[in-house]
Amino acid sequence: MNEELIQCDNHYLQAFSIVCKHLSKKSENLGFHEVEIGAYRPEAWCDACNERWQLQNDTETEREKWEDACDFKIVCVLCYDAIKAKNELAPTFDLDVFTLNEIVNLLDQKNTSIKENFVFPHFLSQLYLNILSKQNTQLIAIECQLLSLDDAIKINNSSQKKDEWIFATSIEVEYWSFTSDNHIMYYEQIENNVIAKKIEITFEEWLKFAFLLKKLDFIQQKYLVTVSLQKALQQRLQMINPKLTTYFKDII
Ligand SMILES: [Zn+2]
Ligand SMILES: [Zn+2]
Repeated sequence: MNEELIQCDNHYLQAFSIVCKHLSKKSENLGFHEVEIGAYRPEAWCDACNERWQLQNDTETEREKWEDACDFKIVCVLCYDAIKAKNELAPTFDLDVFTLNEIVNLLDQKNTSIKENFVFPHFLSQLYLNILSKQNTQLIAIECQLLSLDDAIKINNSSQKKDEWIFATSIEVEYWSFTSDNHIMYYEQIENNVIAKKIEITFEEWLKFAFLLKKLDFIQQKYLVTVSLQKALQQRLQMINPKLTTYFKDII
């Protein structure tokens, strides 16, 4: 929060923030994007400025140009809230959760059958085995690469874990596995250690989560992370399984 106060024509002495020049007390439904999640009334801009960001964020010069066109104005915090209320819209980016059928159709599949004489651990779900029998190794999202049958067998043979089955890899040494007590483990690198997180979701929920991250990767290439994006993501995680909101609270 700014310590300094400004003299607002309507609200006397107040703290302040800044908004792009398109947002004013007279504007309506222009969109309202706030940066700096968790900050106290962070700088904000409209949909048009947010769209322009997609075309102008590669270099420092471009970013400066973007800022010039936003032409940020100082507003008191009470005016800020009024502007937000009049301009905030439902998020327009596509973060809809895919259904299982849609996901199965999106998977990169080939025609092979499950290895006849290979004995899979008893705790693997039927859904997983069905998908495993015909899929190629594929990157679903940056953090989720689903392994083909051959690659899964290879990685599990070398890991030698009796009560776990690795089914997906993530960035570098991180990976995902099923455990014999029907959970999913996520091995995440934190500094120099790989930490195991037990995540109580099903494989179907994991697939929905992975495909949601795919959409998120795409959105993040185009848009800044804003409060509305973060809220929308948390809401979708909640829809898939509320436990995901705890594990991935700070994912963006
Ligand atoms: Zn604007
Ligand atoms: Zn004011």
